[in-house]
Amino acid sequence: MHPLRLDPDRFFSSDAGERAIARELFAGIRKLPIISPHGHTDPAWFSTNAPFEDAVSLLIWPDHYLLRLLYGQGISLESLGLQPKDGAPFETDRRKIWRLFAAHYYVFRGTPSRLWLDHVFGEVFGLDRRLEPETADYYFDVIAEKLAQSDFRPRTLFERFDIEVIATTETALDPLSHHEAIVQSGWKGRVITTFRPDEVMDPDHEAFAESLPQLGDLTGEDVMSWKGYLRALENRRAYFREHGATATDHGPATAQTADLSPREAEGLHARIVSGNADEKERELFRAQMLTEMARMSLDDGMVMQIHPSVWRNHNEALFRRFGRNVGGDLPNRGGFTAQLKPLLDRFGDSRNFTLLLFTLDETNYARELAPLAGLYPCLKLGPAWWFHDSPEGMMRYRRRTTESAGFYNLAGFNDDTRAFFSIPARHDLARRIDCTYLAELVSQKRLEMDEAAEIAADLAYHLPKKVYKL
Ligand SMILES: [Zn+2]
Repeated sequence: MHPLRLDPDRFFSSDAGERAIARELFAGIRKLPIISPHGHTDPAWFSTNAPFEDAVSLLIWPDHYLLRLLYGQGISLESLGLQPKDGAPFETDRRKIWRLFAAHYYVFRGTPSRLWLDHVFGEVFGLDRRLEPETADYYFDVIAEKLAQSDFRPRTLFERFDIEVIATTETALDPLSHHEAIVQSGWKGRVITTFRPDEVMDPDHEAFAESLPQLGDLTGEDVMSWKGYLRALENRRAYFREHGATATDHGPATAQTADLSPREAEGLHARIVSGNADEKERELFRAQMLTEMARMSLDDGMVMQIHPSVWRNHNEALFRRFGRNVGGDLPNRGGFTAQLKPLLDRFGDSRNFTLLLFTLDETNYARELAPLAGLYPCLKLGPAWWFHDSPEGMMRYRRRTTESAGFYNLAGFNDDTRAFFSIPARHDLARRIDCTYLAELVSQKRLEMDEAAEIAADLAYHLPKKVYKL
């Protein structure tokens, strides 16, 4: 058996001087409340406040970072308890699933998942030994015992994690009943929604055909007409704003935008809703809709986020058998400078519009994103995202963006996670890496200590609050 140790100087430089500076910077920000302006936690947790079930449903099933690497090691998702759509048998004994996970925990060595999980095990559950085959049952039992206690209910943990505000993400058709219930309950935790209309804006989304009439029904608008369709989207945006949303989120295949005349846009929309549009027209429609969303953001003040360049559901067999979000997505190549030009020509100089950009294509950081964000008043960069939400990824992001964009064209950190228990771990890691980077600048006399301290607090807390209007 091995002890589980969370070193107080973890992730800091091995250079003693830089380490001391990082330690001092981190001491100044470690207690700041958590701002979580973009993520995918389930609002039902906070509306029902029901206890979490067990280690498997809590820590493994919602975490596609874990599923993908385990699957890649030859472990089937049915053996991890996921139910395939083809009716094939799947494991239901959760202790057995947990043991399988523990037996393969070594797979995560050197990955951020390992760092986050160890933080969850040590800090949230108070476990003092490493997860390995010999400790699998001990872990399963301790976690079950803790989850049954009242102080492990979602709302209590929300307060214990010191979350000032968290944003969930809902599709355009969501009734937002959990957000409504949270407000009605009188509980003071701030859980807001984010408007994510991909399935009613992307003709290639598998739910597009069935979602469109639902959008019409929900809003009483004729979505088969271009103007009615736009009004329906405005209507849903207003509904989301009433439920606390300050931002929209878009996951197009590329960041391509377009600026068609009203007549051209109307003709294109007619082709799309007829179901006869070809691939080029579908791409042009997505591009035009990003610009329409920007226009609506100027009207209603919602911050617009674009998370492009993901090759969703790359693994066909996984998608067919288990659906989305089981680890089958990959980073894709994609640009911004040419792609965003139509939108930026129209709205790029506005001071009343915020467009937040994310990428999975790191080659864009220095060549495109940082210079763009440095120039256009509306543009801000989101943090290192998904595959790059890691010590190395964050450091690469800092090194490639800071000198062109500075720190004040960034949106600070957001955790973008489904894994609620890992939120403190993710913010802890991000804050430490920022302090490591800033310590380097201070030690090289590129920055004064008081300025570095201010930047550390801005990246962790003030910038996300300001950029997301929270
Ligand atoms: Zn997200």
